[in-house]
Amino acid sequence: MLQIDMKSAIATVKSKRAKKVAVQIPEGLKTKLTEIVKEVEEKTGAAVFSFVEPCFGACDLGDAWAKELGAELLLHFGHTQILGQSKIPTVYLPLEYNLEGKKLETALKKLDELLRAGKMKKVALCTTIQYLPCLQELKKALGKKGFSVLIGKGKGAEAGQVLGCNYSAVKSVAGKADAVAFFGDGLFHPLGISFCCKKPVFLLNPIEGRAEQLKEQRDLLLRKRIAMVEKVKQAKTVGIWVSTKRGQQRAKLAMELKKKFEGRGKAAFIFASGLLNPEYLLGVQVEAIVSTACPRIALDDSSSFKQAIVNPNEALIALGERKFEEFEFDELA
Ligand code: SF4
Repeated sequence: MLQIDMKSAIATVKSKRAKKVAVQIPEGLKTKLTEIVKEVEEKTGAAVFSFVEPCFGACDLGDAWAKELGAELLLHFGHTQILGQSKIPTVYLPLEYNLEGKKLETALKKLDELLRAGKMKKVALCTTIQYLPCLQELKKALGKKGFSVLIGKGKGAEAGQVLGCNYSAVKSVAGKADAVAFFGDGLFHPLGISFCCKKPVFLLNPIEGRAEQLKEQRDLLLRKRIAMVEKVKQAKTVGIWVSTKRGQQRAKLAMELKKKFEGRGKAAFIFASGLLNPEYLLGVQVEAIVSTACPRIALDDSSSFKQAIVNPNEALIALGERKFEEFEFDELA
């Protein structure tokens, strides 16, 4: 179950004596939006403006909008800070999972078996923000089982933290490890790790109480991406998409890519918007899209687009400037 630190939220609003507060929450918490707002309003007397545009990371900070609306404070739920100074005072309130001990135990037991079977003793451990408070405890538990555990420190992330666009923490220690263990749910992050760390990657899933080595999923993804890159190679018209979100904006890269595609005789156009919604491209005559924004869009949402969609790393493969053996998820950090 997700835990929300409402005490800190309320205490900050009170200490700042804020009368107008902006709230930004991740999609997964929208069902709790009215509950959260009600509590803030009732306990502080402040008026709350809730942003309802989808927010998937702290790369998409709502500070400019909040300032425009006259808010004195922004409560950003779900993520830790990754951008520089905010335009108005901002409090980051990450969510934490309340884990079920039994499921975690089962997952750990399975991981122990898998690591032993592979004769792997040194493990690089990492997770996403929701599970970060558990990491040291997990390190101890694996240490007790006789493993040597490494937790790396990266750029723009906490020790041991990975984001869908930043694997620097795990990359800093993976070279010294026999394997990487990703603690969390979902395949995106461990798959990203498997491409940038070149070590066996294990998923330790505390929600489902299981552990597994990622292999087939990695091969399947690679096959899908090869097919996508092939379509971009064949395309005669390419749209290069730039996000206007502060932490995802890569206008310079978009211009460089446009030149490269034009140099190969293709027509290339730069498009901009906050979110990349496939509907925004209805009627636009391009056969392929290069998304320079959040790497998850091209990898997770490709089926929503009628055009082929790739990230800049893949675009370079399509342009013949990179080999497929060098395939990695795109990173923004
Ligand atoms: S760019 Fe994507 S992966 Fe990175 S923080 Fe933003 S939403 Fe998360």
